[in-house]
Amino acid sequence: MQMAFSFWATEDMEWLRDRLRRRFGRAEPSCARAPIGQLVKSLISGRTRDEVSLGAYRRLIDVYPRWSDMAAAADLERLIGDVTFPDVKAHHLGKALAAIAIHRPDFDLTFLGNLGVPRALGWLERLPGVGRKVSASTLNFSTLRMPAFVVDTHILRILCRFGFVRSNADTRTAYDLTMAAVPGWSAGDLAELHVLMKRLGQTICRADHADCRSCPISRRCRALADFRGPATVPAG
Ligand code: SF4
Repeated sequence: MQMAFSFWATEDMEWLRDRLRRRFGRAEPSCARAPIGQLVKSLISGRTRDEVSLGAYRRLIDVYPRWSDMAAAADLERLIGDVTFPDVKAHHLGKALAAIAIHRPDFDLTFLGNLGVPRALGWLERLPGVGRKVSASTLNFSTLRMPAFVVDTHILRILCRFGFVRSNADTRTAYDLTMAAVPGWSAGDLAELHVLMKRLGQTICRADHADCRSCPISRRCRALADFRGPATVPAG
């Protein structure tokens, strides 16, 4: 049985990254957004297509170019109405910005870069609605460029099917095991792995259909071994 934290977990991740690079090419995600902007973008992005959440984010900052005004706004739900669960996300967004306004009235979160990843994750995760995916993306995808792996629904599904984590693992467990497997990886390495795995999840290892025959990582995939070589695996 595959063991987490073993030396070959590192080799698994390197192999997986290299196979995905060969299929999709190298990925160099841009990290140009300030941490507060990335936090807001991530808070409204869950289970929503990238173009939809980006459009909603742009509407937010067009209407409220000052974060303090956004924190006090009453129409956040209307502005992000096309993302999934807009009521819940608008509620969390308003509460999170209000909490930041108390502790950091200038909404400048660059101080997180001096805390180190564990403490920075902890600071962010005390905000309403902020879990490990949002906190990690705030650190990794923003100008902070800190080494924190972003586990979204695509990445979690692939890690479970692949057998790198248990089939019922949650985001935090997947984060912990991946980070433990690649301790020397830079922020850029982790951002690239995220982009490559997400691409696989959007095109081949989809929630409703896994096209294992064309999958570049099928050779080591636990799901394929468990089902003794079918072309598809159950949705999930
Ligand atoms: S072999 Fe199939 S289940 Fe495994 S990662 Fe690839 S598409 Fe997903």
